[in-house]
Amino acid sequence: MGPAANAFRQEVRDWLAKHWTPEKQAAHRRKPFKERGWDVEFSKLMGRDGWIGVGWPKEFGGQGRSATEQIAFITEMANSGAPSQAHGTAESIVAQALFAHGTKAQQDEWLSAIRRGERTFALGYSEPEAGSDLAALRTRATRDGDDWIVNGQKLWSTGGDKAEYMWLAVRTDPDAKKHAGISVLMVDLRSPGITIRPSLALYGKTFSAQFYDNVRVPAKNMVGAVNNGWKVITDALAAERVMIGGTRMARIESAFDRLTEYLKTAEAGGKALRNDPVIRDRIGALAADIEVARQFQMRNSRLVEQGKVPIHEGAMAKVFASELQERLGQAALDILGTGGLLSEEADSAPVGEMEQVLRHAIMGMIGGGTNEIQRNVIAQRGLDLPR
Ligand SMILES: Cc1cc2nc3c(=O)[nH]c(=O)nc-3n(C[C@H](O)[C@H](O)[C@H](O)COP(=O)(O)OP(=O)(O)OC[C@H]3O[C@@H](n4cnc5c(N)ncnc54)[C@H](O)[C@@H]3O)c2cc1C
Repeated sequence: MGPAANAFRQEVRDWLAKHWTPEKQAAHRRKPFKERGWDVEFSKLMGRDGWIGVGWPKEFGGQGRSATEQIAFITEMANSGAPSQAHGTAESIVAQALFAHGTKAQQDEWLSAIRRGERTFALGYSEPEAGSDLAALRTRATRDGDDWIVNGQKLWSTGGDKAEYMWLAVRTDPDAKKHAGISVLMVDLRSPGITIRPSLALYGKTFSAQFYDNVRVPAKNMVGAVNNGWKVITDALAAERVMIGGTRMARIESAFDRLTEYLKTAEAGGKALRNDPVIRDRIGALAADIEVARQFQMRNSRLVEQGKVPIHEGAMAKVFASELQERLGQAALDILGTGGLLSEEADSAPVGEMEQVLRHAIMGMIGGGTNEIQRNVIAQRGLDLPR
């Protein structure tokens, strides 16, 4: 890290020390696990002080921070455990798509509200018959005056039971080739006709299915031109993979630091764990992998800075970081033994949260498009291999 990033890191730490107080942390930890991480009031506080949109270009009201500064920011946030999920999707995915595809009016209204932490989003892509083959989606939008009328069903939307808006992929032309008849709408989830059914994912947080029954959405909430949604979606998915790579990298690094700190003094059977050659071997390998994940993230942030969309680069970062998270979780459980299985809520857990790190890994491998699909993206888009 250069001096600018270190100074910025200190600024972030100072702000967190003042606003993410021990009292707030204790109150946060008293919430059920599925409620943690999503805190609209804290998002608004971050927005008030300019901490949403740290990496956004200045022309959109962001701080225009460099790649190294952005990484300093996300690692400090991960280390502190401060909640950022309420604004995360809007800030990192919806905003990136609005920079490229939003109208001036949409940018003015939506970006400033997102930056203030006032507009929370979930992503409505997947359907019962459309996952990896997302272009098979069937949720229908038909035009009626100044509105679109939406009918259909979405599935697996992370945070869909908490967010105010859905970034919704809909079919607007059922007769066109499947990629050519799709559009994107920003849908107020409080609109009449929407039923939301939450369920609990393996990693302990909720996602939701939603049913849309003649839901009216103002036409001004369409992002990009009618039937041009595939481009908007693929750009947004690239941003999502960059975000998954980045948040994973930060979380992994933070958990790894706690694990190595523990190993410095821990003993088993009267022997210091730090002297065990097998443990040192695994820790050394993980440290190298974490550095690779960090470099992937650095490259992606730089590409975004240059106005490029990191398609296969984003896919690489997501695949690598999510699989690294699994390796870290497994290594931690092997090293900590039964104690590693204790949840972070258990006072006696040697290094809290390790079993959750492992359960959480699966989300990064499937969410944002499975890692099998990402490897196809890398082969096709990165290496020009045929479909
Ligand atoms: C925790 C979690 C959070 C999620 N959050 C969201 C969200 O916020 N919004 C949203 O819209 N969706 C979300 N999803 C859904 C996710 O995007 C889909 O599950 C994913 O795209 C896979 O689709 P599918 O489940 O229909 O599986 P399928 O597409 O049916 O795939 C099944 C298996 O076949 C493999 N496969 C399929 N096609 C190919 C191929 N061409 N080549 C190689 N292998 C292939 C897949 O890799 C997978 O292993 C989430 C999923 C999870 C688990």
